[in-house]
Order: sequence, then C-alpha cells, then structure tokens
Amino acid sequence: MIRFPRPSRREVLAGLSATVLAAPALAQNAGTGVDVAIVGAGAAGIAAARKLAASGRSYVLLEAASRVGGRARSDTGLGPVVDLGAATFSRMDGTLADAAGEAGLPLVAVPSAARLFVDGHEVAESGYDAFALALGRTRRDMLAAADAGKDGPAAAFLGSRGPWTATVEAMLGPLGCGRALAAVSTLDLARRQAPPDDVTCPLGLGVMLERLAAWTNLRTDAAVTQITNAGRFYALALRGERSVIRARTVILAVPAAVLVSDAIRFNPVLPARVMLALRGCPSGAIEQVAFTLPGNPLHLADNETVLARAGEGAPTLLRGRVGGSDVHVLRFGAAPAQALSGKGEAARQAARTVMRGAFGLDMPEKLLVSNWGGDPLIRGAMAVASPGQGAQRALFASPLGRLVFAGEYTTPVGWGTLTGAWNSGEIAAERAIRLTGGPA
Ligand SMILES: Cc1cc2nc3c(=O)[nH]c(=O)nc-3n(C[C@H](O)[C@H](O)[C@H](O)COP(=O)(O)OP(=O)(O)OC[C@H]3O[C@@H](n4cnc5c(N)ncnc54)[C@H](O)[C@@H]3O)c2cc1C
Repeated sequence: MIRFPRPSRREVLAGLSATVLAAPALAQNAGTGVDVAIVGAGAAGIAAARKLAASGRSYVLLEAASRVGGRARSDTGLGPVVDLGAATFSRMDGTLADAAGEAGLPLVAVPSAARLFVDGHEVAESGYDAFALALGRTRRDMLAAADAGKDGPAAAFLGSRGPWTATVEAMLGPLGCGRALAAVSTLDLARRQAPPDDVTCPLGLGVMLERLAAWTNLRTDAAVTQITNAGRFYALALRGERSVIRARTVILAVPAAVLVSDAIRFNPVLPARVMLALRGCPSGAIEQVAFTLPGNPLHLADNETVLARAGEGAPTLLRGRVGGSDVHVLRFGAAPAQALSGKGEAARQAARTVMRGAFGLDMPEKLLVSNWGGDPLIRGAMAVASPGQGAQRALFASPLGRLVFAGEYTTPVGWGTLTGAWNSGEIAAERAIRLTGGPA
C-alpha cells in the first residue's frame, strides 16, 4: 500500500474545488489508499487487476455485485452449466485464452460457422453460398462508405440481398449487437473486426472469469457511488460505508450505460464531451432463453449455432447442445429482447413461438431467462454507436486526468466482445501505471 503525504494548507486550497470540499464522505473519513482503484470486475476490470498485480502496484478491484464476471455469468439452474451472457470468445485475439491456459482452465473449440435453417430444414450448399455472398457484399459496401467518411445508418447498405436480406440484417443488427441496423452507425459496424469466437470453457465463462479473478485484491458487494477528484488523489465512496478509498488513479470498468446513469456521481462532473460520447453509444438489447431439448432433435454438434428463419418471421439464433448437454439457448435481440427481459412468461411465449415456427419443436416447461436490460449494474447488452456517432469511441482512449476508461465500449474494433473487454483492461492498466508514476 502507498502512503499519501499530508497536503499543506496551501495545497489543499489550490487543489480542491469548492464542490470537492463540500463532499461529505471525504470531509468525514479518510479511508485506505492505493495506487489504482478499479471500478467493476467484469472481464476488463479483472484483466486490469491482474496486470497491476504483476506490476507490483497497490490496487483494489471494487465490484458492486456479490460475484465477478459482469456480462459473463454461468448458471446451473437447468443442471448443466450454461452461460446466459458471453458464451464463446476468440482464442487468438489477445491474452485471455493464454491466461485461462496458465490458470489450468480447460478450453474447447466450438464450431466457428453457424448452420442455416429455413422453414425447419437445413439449406443446401447453394443457400450457404448465397448467404455468404449477401453478407460479404453488405460488409464491403459498409466498409467503402466508412472509408469515404459516411456515417449514416448501417441499414442503408442492406439494399436487396434477395431472400437473405432479413437474415443479414438480423445477424449484423439485433442478434449481433442488439440494435436494428437503422439505429447503428455504419462506421462503428464497419470497424468492428471481432474475429470468430472459436473457444469456450466447459466450466462456463462466468466461472472462468471468477477463477481468473481468484487471487486479485477484490472486494465484492462494493458499489462505488461517488468519485471525487481531490487533487492528488481520488476519493471513492462506497454504498453503505462511511470511509472512502483513496486512489491516485482510477480505472472505470463499468458499462457505458452505468456511466450515463446517475449510479456513480462524479465530483466534478464528467465533461460534456465525454457524456455526449457515452450517450452516442447506447446499449443494444440482447436476452437469452435457455432450456433442455432431450434427444438432439436438430442433430447438432456440441456448441453448434443455428441461424434460422421461417416464413416472414424474424430470423433467430439457437446455440445447441451447450457443453455437449441437452441445453439449448435462444437469442433475442433489439425490440423482442426488450419485451422479454427478465419476464418469465413473456419469454416462454416468445421462445415457444420461435421454436415452433423455426424448428417445429415444442418448448419444455423449465427455462432460464437472462435479464441484462433490467440489471441496474449492466443496463443492456453492449454499447453500439448510433448513426453519425461512430467516431466517438476514440475519445475513451484518452484518460481524463487520472481517470482511465476500460470495458468493451472503449475499443473501436473489439467492442461488444469478451476479448475486446479483456484487452481494454490490460491497456487501461498500462495507462494507469504510467499515470501513477513513481516507483512500483
Ligand atoms: C447476452 C449477451 C451475449 C454475449 N455473447 C458474447 C459472446 O458470445 N462472445 C463475446 O465475446 N462477447 C459476448 N457478449 C459481450 C461480452 O459479454 C461483453 O463485451 C463483456 O463481458 C463486457 O465486459 P466488461 O468488463 O466491459 O463489462 P461487464 O462485464 O459488464 O463488467 C462491468 C462490471 O461493473 C460492475 N459495476 C457496475 N456498476 C458498478 C459500481 N457502481 N461499482 C462497482 N462495480 C460496478 C458490474 O456489476 C459488472 O460486474 C455478450 C453480451 C451479452 C449481454
């Protein structure tokens, strides 16, 4: 732990604004001090903590929930383990897979391409070719527009992709990032270069992150409610606690939507340009419904994904045989996800309609339903730039004083992914080490 020198009266007067002096928690209690406080223990916060630990800096990882992992959460309510948030990630893009390997956590390959079903049946080879062509052309047109500096709605590049238009839109928009393409920035989507998710951890990705956080200096049930810039250090107030945590540098690893809400008060307030950038990247909505489907009626391989459409219905995504079990997971994106977030009966009805329409199968009684939109610590699926706002993410690369941003929303190419979040945490830790200065 570092010690903070007692500031002189002159330094206090020079360093503290009137509003800071008015902060009651800081005035009443001086708590413990660390080099770096990390707020939020999802993938980004955990990666930052590990990097800081390796550097020998003093740090604390503060998580509001009683568990770590954020949008990676494993559930055993159906028996076998299933992830209702992130379920797979890229082995190559960053150090997450290496960290898991070093921790002795098993990783297994998952099929990287989805199978395509139309009206309950798998399409012929020509159907796969037509879909790949439609998707490739849409991506190419979006890239060309982005290169030309155009940042309108991504839906403008769908044109007519024949019978695959709706599937391409669903995959890039509602099922891919939780927003309809009409509400998505062309630049943001064109830049997204998420490599194919090719591995998962059979223990569950939520469990994987818990293990990776195991030896960090972690405090759970520690909701940060206020961050006050006190000049030489930041004072972090925690819900239900009188004393504050003092940190020379703060890594903010909470979702963008949490920063936009009033859940954490900043003193002084975050600058208008930062708030504008955060509001330019609102959360998409994705919810997942898990259930068991005994007997493998769709003849799927373990962890295989099916992209299906039936009639005029919205295309749907089914992840089958999770971890080799009978558990399957249906994904809902954008408006349908908002409608069923955390609502058991609405989710059952929606899932039943999809399973009957797309696969001709009945739903079992027991299911698990995610509630990312209704969770006040998460507030949605992932931050997606609105049309015209695609350049805003670049702002999060620059620290604000000694406040450093981390999380999926801060990465222009890996946004909305687990590896993007993990990588952003490592980068934030490196920035924090530089900003904190002095000997380790
Ligand atoms: C349904 C769904 C499916 C997904 N599928 C995939 C996938 O298959 N592959 C993939 O790569 N990505 C996927 N993603 C995206 C991936 O889950 C996220 O990009 C990633 O987990 C985000 O990590 P993060 O650290 O940025 O934020 P989070 O994981 O959200 O972590 C932020 C943490 O901050 C905490 N927090 C909030 N407020 C406070 C506070 N006041 N004080 C202290 N702590 C606070 C939260 O509790 C949370 O633990 C999916 C996301 C969703 C929602």
